[in-house]
Amino acid sequence: MLGPFLRFECYQMIGGNILIEIRGVEKYFGATKVLEDINLDIDSGEIYGIVGHSGAGKSTLLRCINGLEDYQGGSIKVSGKEVRDLNEEEIRNLRKDLGMIFQHFSLLERRTVFENVSLPLECFGYQKSDIKKRVDELLEIVGIADKSGVKPKNLSGGQKQRVAIARALALNPKVMLCDEATSALDPNTTKSILALLDDINKKFGITIIMVTHQMEVIKQICSKVAIMEEGRVLEVGPTEDIFLKNSKNLRKLIGEDNIILPEGTNIKLMFPKEDSNKPIITTMAKELDIDISIIFGKLEQFKEDILGSLIINIEEKDGDGVKKFLDEKGIGWEEIENGVK
Ligand code: ADP
Repeated sequence: MLGPFLRFECYQMIGGNILIEIRGVEKYFGATKVLEDINLDIDSGEIYGIVGHSGAGKSTLLRCINGLEDYQGGSIKVSGKEVRDLNEEEIRNLRKDLGMIFQHFSLLERRTVFENVSLPLECFGYQKSDIKKRVDELLEIVGIADKSGVKPKNLSGGQKQRVAIARALALNPKVMLCDEATSALDPNTTKSILALLDDINKKFGITIIMVTHQMEVIKQICSKVAIMEEGRVLEVGPTEDIFLKNSKNLRKLIGEDNIILPEGTNIKLMFPKEDSNKPIITTMAKELDIDISIIFGKLEQFKEDILGSLIINIEEKDGDGVKKFLDEKGIGWEEIENGVK
């Protein structure tokens, strides 16, 4: 689909090639600290999720990365360069490398779709004929070539976000920063926009940072995730691991932190994808000849895989046998202390 003109550099996806390195970042608004000791490594070519409730500091962190906000402590390096130390021209080049999309699209209502997408190219002084070729190709990529002459008010939310994505891609960015990009969209449209972003990541190797409060977004496309709360990163790791661990931080974020556990021994099981369809519980109950109550369970779709976590309750005397059984089967487990978890 890509014509010769649209020279998207396919950024190499070399494992462990850090593109954005964040160390000990502190950020204040007046006397209020809004980011505290933030440490993240974002590799070239990955889709990295930053998830947290509203007010956690996610957008502020994005704005520090692209130089729109200053930070008072620590270091943010993009492609090895400290953002705070960049001069005006270097900041301009940095922003060229970092395309951005937002929840409410930020389109210019008086301009057509074509004119919205051409804006960054005009700002960077491209020739008219080159602009035409490039915008046409971009609209093709995001699937709205037929809307070129239409004004934003005549587009659906999903189409508006496609325009914003085309605009963000116009200058061949290395990274797309997505700030709650699907929060104003219905679930089906969200899926299609995420599929488009995933496609763009795979085809062009563009690194994507997804800031969101929606766990579904993280599950659908992010390979790594950082959980943020009150200006701090609480947990970070591969998405599957974070979900399998189903830590208190994650449960709190998705509102599952108030499960009341009964007396006895409560064990949380974590099923990796290869085990999620095996009848572990019934086999265990039969083999050990014990009763097992399921307190909480969920199976979740992760891209093409299904992963599960389950909390079971057993009599205290059966605890050791169950743990041994799980170890033998290679199922991850963690005993949860009694009380409200
Ligand atoms: P999130 O993106 O996670 O919703 P934000 O980064 O927007 O969080 O906000 C983090 C905190 O910083 C919030 O308490 C917010 O009120 C505050 N904040 C954000 N922008 C400003 C600003 N320009 N001036 C003062 N406080 C701000």
